[in-house]
Amino acid sequence: RKKSVGLLGNMQGERRPMPFVEDTVVPPERLADYIAEFRALLDRKGLVYGMFGHVDAGCLHVRPALDMKDPAQEALVREISDEVFALTRKYEGVLWGEHGKGFRSEYAPAFFGPLYARMQEIKAAFDPHNQLNPGKIAAPPGHALSRIDGVPTRGQADRRIPIEVRRANEDSLHCNGNAACFNHDPDDAMCPSWKATRERRHSPKGRASLMREWLRRLAEREVDPSSEAARLRRQGALGRWSAFPGRALNTWNARRTAGRTGPDDFSLEVKEAMDGCLACKSCVGQCPIKVDVPAFRSRFLEVHHGRYLRPMKDTLVASLERWLPTAAKLPRLMNGLTQSAVGRSALGALGLVSLPGMSGIDLREALARRGVRTASPEALRALTAAERGRSIVVVQDAFTSHYDTAVVLDWCELLLALGFIPWLAPFRPNGKPQHVLGLLGRFERTAAANARMLGGLAATGVDLVGVDPSMTLAYRAEYVKALGADRVPVVLLPQEWLIRRLDDLPKLEADPSNPWHLLPHCTERTNAPAATADWKRVAERLGIALRIVPSGCCGMAGLYGHERDHRATSEAIYGLSWRSIVAAPRHAGRLVATGYSCRCQTALVDGVELSHPIQALLARVKAARAVPAGASPPRPSTPPAPTLAPAHHDQA
Ligand code: SF4
Ligand code: SF4
Repeated sequence: RKKSVGLLGNMQGERRPMPFVEDTVVPPERLADYIAEFRALLDRKGLVYGMFGHVDAGCLHVRPALDMKDPAQEALVREISDEVFALTRKYEGVLWGEHGKGFRSEYAPAFFGPLYARMQEIKAAFDPHNQLNPGKIAAPPGHALSRIDGVPTRGQADRRIPIEVRRANEDSLHCNGNAACFNHDPDDAMCPSWKATRERRHSPKGRASLMREWLRRLAEREVDPSSEAARLRRQGALGRWSAFPGRALNTWNARRTAGRTGPDDFSLEVKEAMDGCLACKSCVGQCPIKVDVPAFRSRFLEVHHGRYLRPMKDTLVASLERWLPTAAKLPRLMNGLTQSAVGRSALGALGLVSLPGMSGIDLREALARRGVRTASPEALRALTAAERGRSIVVVQDAFTSHYDTAVVLDWCELLLALGFIPWLAPFRPNGKPQHVLGLLGRFERTAAANARMLGGLAATGVDLVGVDPSMTLAYRAEYVKALGADRVPVVLLPQEWLIRRLDDLPKLEADPSNPWHLLPHCTERTNAPAATADWKRVAERLGIALRIVPSGCCGMAGLYGHERDHRATSEAIYGLSWRSIVAAPRHAGRLVATGYSCRCQTALVDGVELSHPIQALLARVKAARAVPAGASPPRPSTPPAPTLAPAHHDQA
């Protein structure tokens, strides 16, 4: 029953389940007949509806699906309410069972009869100026109750937004305000920015409401944000330069007036709320309506920055994936620049802090020494069917490949140890940072080029598998939205691939009394919950008892924790859940995390270097191989730490 509201809210289309006759109660012994009449009433009007409730108490929650933006359907609220009220009277029940009366109070005089006059006297005695919730429950003599169809509705506001704009923005407009995102559990991933600030504008609901209001105000000025975004994308370099003075002036004005007269452009208020979002995507996975803040935030930023300048750091971050491979050829120089006091203060001036150092390992060279080749469609096609069946293409992402290279090396080493043939996909930018910044035109081009290259590899029939969950899951969400599903190859997470090959993996004995503990990346935990559970089964097969630790967000979420303005909040978010998990003695040396960002955050805040679960599995497989035939397996109570093979530390 508790999930019913969410399930109904996730209904597709313009008609949404409306809660206006959703709280009726009749004597339980009459409930069956009452339901039959209620259904006939709604069926006569040709409506679909959700019906759930507490049968033992005779309480029924019914939500007819209406498009409240359509005035004809809005009028049904009055019609249905009147008929259902009459029905509850017939069955000796009430229109309001467990919730308040609210706007349904207009039925109170008919329900209470002569008693209503007494209620009016009580109201007048305690609230002589009719200040407390006027128009509800009882009105003092001479005052009217609110009318059920006299209330301004969201549908009335939303219908001012043109239909094509509404269709392009369903991921914000369909928020039904159920407030499941006001989650207070620190060990739940739902909305870290809300948890850290306790400000409604920093919740998914708050951001969806601001977005809706922004769209409404644009509609008043006859601006279609999609057309505006398309216009900005068509702008060449000349167009951008000619718009520069206007954008600079707007930016200067906004800074000048901020905090004194308040922003006079509503877009600036929306921007503040969007800036606080980590783009962690927990709302996408956990909101029952699938409100997608990162998606509409990106669309908003794209249009907003047509009017206001972007900070310099956006330019740097947007091209980061493109220049990292070149920078990685000179890791000492790069690390000297980013890690020195001068470099740090220069980056700090740009708004970037606590950047990690590059690993200094040339991934391709290190893998070549292990016999792992770079994949190409020709090379994969030249394999025999048996070889192709054992092959897997490891899809790189800029951050794991260049900063946490050991994880990719260990992933390939594990695959080799398990008898598979790993191949390395050529590096191409993924584009996710561009998407997060709202550079959607650039993201589309980056994604198209990457999808083309990966599609060529996938066409050979060899599976593609990413490493970092956040970057890998972008292929299923942001890529599919931008390019369409038919242009995007399937890229699996490591555990999703391993679970498909479970029968080919050796069965190693696990010690459940001495488990490892997994902290999944929150995008993975909330957007691919089945894949998170896959880790457990894979680990168990390979001789590791693995527990998935309930946790909130680590606070890093890609770029967010590296932004000067967000660093303090990022650490506050870390403190809500991760700090105590990382510090727990039972987790010492046995905690693994799938996200590169998360591992980076624990190292930064607590100086704790976490491994990837792949590294724990590799250590276990290596330990099992080291046991001579007939000897008992090593006690997992003293598992080898997932140390890296010496070759991993080769400097480029
Ligand atoms: S964002 Fe989702 S969970 Fe939050 S109020 Fe809106 S519909 Fe409910
Ligand atoms: S992406 Fe994360 S921080 Fe942003 S609104 Fe959704 S849950 Fe909150």
